[in-house]
Amino acid sequence: MKAELIAVGTELLLGQIVNTNAQYLSRRLADLGIDVYYQTVVGDNPHRIRSAIETARSRADLLVFTGGLGPTQDDLTKDVLANYLGLELTYDEPSMAKIVAFFDSRGVHMVESNKRQATTITGAQALFNDAGLAVGNAISVDGTRYILLPGPPREMKPMFEGPALTWLLNELGESIPLYSRLLKFAGIGESTLEDKLLDLIDGQTDPTIAPYAKEGEVAIRLSTKASNGLEAQAKLDAAVAEIRQRVGEYLYAQEDIPLEEAVVRLLRSSGRTVASAESCSGGLFAQLITNIPGSSGEYAGGVVTYTNAMKHRLLGIPMAQLEGQGAPGAISESTAALMAERIRELADADYGVSITGVAGPAESEGKPVGLVYYAIAERGKSAEVHTMHLSGSREIIRIRAVKSALYRLWRLLRSVDQSRQV
Ligand code: ATP
Repeated sequence: MKAELIAVGTELLLGQIVNTNAQYLSRRLADLGIDVYYQTVVGDNPHRIRSAIETARSRADLLVFTGGLGPTQDDLTKDVLANYLGLELTYDEPSMAKIVAFFDSRGVHMVESNKRQATTITGAQALFNDAGLAVGNAISVDGTRYILLPGPPREMKPMFEGPALTWLLNELGESIPLYSRLLKFAGIGESTLEDKLLDLIDGQTDPTIAPYAKEGEVAIRLSTKASNGLEAQAKLDAAVAEIRQRVGEYLYAQEDIPLEEAVVRLLRSSGRTVASAESCSGGLFAQLITNIPGSSGEYAGGVVTYTNAMKHRLLGIPMAQLEGQGAPGAISESTAALMAERIRELADADYGVSITGVAGPAESEGKPVGLVYYAIAERGKSAEVHTMHLSGSREIIRIRAVKSALYRLWRLLRSVDQSRQV
């Protein structure tokens, strides 16, 4: 199979951004034994995108596009390809639901153009975007395969490694006996993880090691070609053992599950429960945990105590602790500890988790944006508090804070049940 990469975006031609997507995808396609003969970059112009498709079509049987899936009028990739193939565009319902929910949750009016991000070419497989709003597409027409991925690398990589790769491997059928395994990590950033595995990644031949990040989590896909499943599993097991030795404390799953699911599973297997008291994270901890079906056995409940009055009334935190001259304040180690202990008692749960901090954009109590305290109180013990200095948008600070608290809880639960190796 011969592939051509088509990166769409005038920014690339102007030299405003570097085409790192091409580097990533070329390496990954090489891992799969797919030859990439050409990489094309084309601006946001329908005639030139069409001409790039025609040329690529004449010399490749897999065309992988990145970029141009967004909401604006210059995001044209899907429209031009649909037109070229003589196919219509329809809406992908799950992606549309995600877009509507995104605007609803922010109380922002959704302009019509945002719906464009949910369009999909008739007959194509929709590739759900876990990290963003624009849906990807994969379609095979007259012997040529087309994969459309979003431009932002943090959206493109998970989409490629997840639904696009599954589709591609399925299309390739028996022609490449490729075996792969996904490792999921938390509590460690993508660059630190890469750094610790650099020699393995650089020297990789078999299995190949491809790390990529989602917010608050990092994944590594190991892939190997082998003549049979047993041989492949042996190679993958050996690579996992080496990786585990270096970064095993952060490895929470060997399958594609979010951290909260790993936490719920450990709570379930140990017969324990958790409750939460949140401030700056606004209920995100509760939301993530309750996203996991059946978590009512493990999650007792929680409160969002956003104001000091509510921290006082619902959790009984003394006002003198929260405000006034010399008080530690709502955003403090001691308040985080009290919140975790009080919610644990109220819910009669095994663990109480609290999160309080400054998600921004403005500072609060004279404390800087990104300062977050979270605490975990375990039955019979006083709370253990962690301090974080996070950067990024309000949304990113919240998700990172919650994922960090989940990671600490996961570690605590793991230490209770060491026998369960991931
Ligand atoms: P969005 O929904 O964000 O508009 P999109 O799929 O339409 O995504 P583009 O608008 O083309 O993608 O690009 C969005 C951003 O993604 C760019 O500003 C750039 O930061 C990044 N990006 C796009 N293409 C590439 C690329 N080939 N390599 C690296 N980064 C890229």
